[in-house]
This record gives sequence, C-alpha cells and structure tokens, in this order.
Amino acid sequence: MAKILCVLYDDPENGYPQNMIRDDLPELSSYPDGQTLPSPSKIDYTPGQLLGSVTGELGLRKFLEDAGHEFIVTSDKDGPDSVFEKELPDAEIVISQPFWPAYLTADRIGKAKKLKLAITAGIGSDHVDLHAAMKHGVTVAEVTYCNSISVAEHVVMMILSLVRNYIPSYQWVVKGGWNIADCVQRSYDLEGMTVGTVAAGRIGSAVLRRLKPFDVRLHYTDRHRLPADAEKELDLTFHENADSLVRACDVVTINCPLHPETEHLFNDSLIGKMKRGAYLINTARGKICDRDAVVRALESGQLAGYAGDVWYPQPAPKDHPWRTMPNHGMTPHISGSSLSAQNRYAAGTREILERWFEGKPLRSDYLIVDGGKLAGAGAHSYS
Ligand code: NDP
Repeated sequence: MAKILCVLYDDPENGYPQNMIRDDLPELSSYPDGQTLPSPSKIDYTPGQLLGSVTGELGLRKFLEDAGHEFIVTSDKDGPDSVFEKELPDAEIVISQPFWPAYLTADRIGKAKKLKLAITAGIGSDHVDLHAAMKHGVTVAEVTYCNSISVAEHVVMMILSLVRNYIPSYQWVVKGGWNIADCVQRSYDLEGMTVGTVAAGRIGSAVLRRLKPFDVRLHYTDRHRLPADAEKELDLTFHENADSLVRACDVVTINCPLHPETEHLFNDSLIGKMKRGAYLINTARGKICDRDAVVRALESGQLAGYAGDVWYPQPAPKDHPWRTMPNHGMTPHISGSSLSAQNRYAAGTREILERWFEGKPLRSDYLIVDGGKLAGAGAHSYS
C-alpha cells in the first residue's frame, strides 16, 4: 500500500464553508479542441465544493483509504521542519497544486527514496525539478487543459480592469467618494488597441478568441505558427519573437510555460522595447518576469499597468514589492483554481491515481516526465 502526500492551500480564514454558493456547475461535454474531460470511475464529492484546500482534500480520502493507502494532507510545505519535508522520505506519491506549490527540488527528490509519482493538480510542473525527476525515475503528470479556460477568463478580466482603471475606481466607491476625474484620468477603451500574446497554446488561443469581439487587433508569437485557417479566423498577426511582438502592442499577455528560455524573458531590456504606457499581464509564471524590472517600469511610467496572479516564491512574502508597486492589479495565484477548475483537476487527479494503481498507462496528454525522460505533453512544452 502506498503513502500519498498531498500539499494543499489553507482553508478560508473563517473556516471550511458549510454551504455551497450555487447548487450546480455547468456541464461541459469536452474541451474546446475535443480533448475529453477527466474521467475517473467515480467521484466522492459534490462538483462545486471547495476541493483545493486542506479540508477539501481534492475529494480523495475515501477512495484512497478504502483501498488501504495512507493519505496525508498538509499545507505546511516549506523549510526543513515542515510536515512536507518530514513526511517526504517514505512517500510514494506527492500531489500538489501550482497555487501552493510543494517545491520538489533536486535535494528533496534525492531524499525521497520511495518517490515514484509527482502529480500536479493543475497545469505547470515547473515547481518540480524535472531533471532530478528524470534522473531518479519519478513520473511527473499534470491535468492538462483542466483550468486553461479559467485562466483565459482571468486574463480578459485583468486586461479590462487595467485599461479601464477599474480597481482604483471601485476603491473610490468603497471610500465614500465620487471622484470621477481621479478615476478617469487613467481610463481608456480597449477598442482599437493592439493586444498580443506570448504563446498561443491552450490559454493564449482562448484569450485571443475571447478578445476578438472587442474589436482589437490581435497579435501573437509562439515557437510554432498556428494553422493558416486559425490565423485567418481571428485575423492574427504573427511575430517571429517576443521582441518584435512587444514593440507593436498596447497590451501584452504572457501565456508560455516557465523553462530556461522564458525565465526572466521580460527584463529591463524587453520591457524597454514595449510602447510607453503599455499594459503587461502575466498569469503564466512569476519568474518569466524580472521582479524588479517590473517595479521600475511601473514607477517610471514605461508600463501603465501590470497584473497577473503568479509570483515567486509562492506564497509571496508580505514585503514582496509587487504588493505595493503602483498601478498593479495583482491577485494571489487563483486564476486556475476556480471551483469549476477544482472540480476538473480533482477528477483528473483521481483518474491519474486510478490508472496508476491499476498499472495502466496514464494519458499521454497528462504526462510530463516518464521513464527517465520528458514524455507526452511535457516533451512538447518543456523541451
Ligand atoms: P500549452 O502547452 O497549451 O501552451 C503553451 C504554449 O507556449 C505552446 O504553444 C508553446 O509552444 C508555447 N511556448 C513555449 N515556449 C515558448 C517560448 N519560448 N516562446 C513562445 N511560446 C512558447 O499550455 P497552457 O496554455 O495550458 O498553459 C500555459 C502556461 O500557463 C502553463 O505552462 C503554466 O505555466 C501557466 N498556467 C497558469 C495557471 C494559473 O493558474 N495562473 C493555470 C494553468 C497554466 P509550442 O507548443 O508551439 O512549442
């Protein structure tokens, strides 16, 4: 029987919710590209329930304990005295979410002698040292597509909220003011602006598709060009690289994975090539942007706004400068953890576990590392 160590974020400050806000979730038949939704044999929770926090347990306890496995759930993940570090040496499976990542460094993987499977309940396995996973024969899997649309919706919300200056305007209402000029002195229409995405994968493409009705000009860069009919349908302008893209855009959204090629891609030099007063939205990974370069650009006015929900490290320390820099619209890492997304990645995690215990191959779409090398979706995204 296996020991499964699961790291989840804390319950709400007022305790685990006793009631659901809504009675149901919309039922989806498949993802936009036809990929099928997670399909475990059964689930032991109500869709729409809070699953990503420690009491929610991704709805896995009954399934795992009925099968005789040991299931440990904690939010205490950092430092040598953390529950995660203490329980790791004899864990066979680790589950964690990118929102509250259990960093599986080379050092930790080296100490986890029994570790065979690391599951990302979400998308983006950059919190796992993939080279160390390959070296130690650890399989890494994630729930591809589970929250891509959730993130795309968040990106659209953040673009509109920055360009229209929503957040400060809302704050004037809460403060009891009616300060029209204070609100509108930074407010523009999105209509007619040029919006570009760095990467047009599942999230990037969904952002482009959602923005099309706003009558904006849509641009993108990616390692592989989209099919001609997709470019034509959305009237897309392709750029060979980010350098060319950012010079043309009023708004740039980052939707590529974090890997050595994209780490600190948005530094002083690239941000300096953006149009003065451009907006930058990063829901991909915090380290794709140079932390202090973003602060400098907001302070100088080179950027009119920066928003996103990804930081490094996570949780971000109380004194992280992105909490206090001007004209930002940051949230904690939540875009991919809506209740709708939680339902899909909890089901996807269970599907992975069921297949693993039955000795069946995992979906190629879910694999990042397998058999000592990048595999499946990972061979495409992280190569
Ligand atoms: P996809 O794999 O569908 O898309 C990623 C795209 O990035 C691919 O088209 C890939 O190109 C492209 N790409 C990779 N490297 C580069 C590069 N150097 N320059 C330009 N394009 C590049 O993934 P998703 O769209 O589902 O997710 C993207 C990322 O978003 C994830 O890796 C994760 O980090 C982040 N994410 C954030 C979430 C959140 O909650 N904030 C939730 C989910 C994901 P190609 O395949 O053509 O080689």
